[in-house]
Amino acid sequence: MAKKKHVKMQCSACKKVNYYMKKSKGKAQVEKKLDLSKFCNLCRKHTAHKESKK
Ligand SMILES: [Zn+2]
Repeated sequence: MAKKKHVKMQCSACKKVNYYMKKSKGKAQVEKKLDLSKFCNLCRKHTAHKESKK
């Protein structure tokens, strides 16, 4: 069974979690921290979103 991990994408400006991403194990990018520019509803603009681990 393939294990999938849900990753929170958190706004680096307001710390709000705006997106959830599924990551499947076994991919080369698992170790890499994601850093994406996404639209934040709270900031009302595009901000850098970082992977947040609980
Ligand atoms: Zn924000």
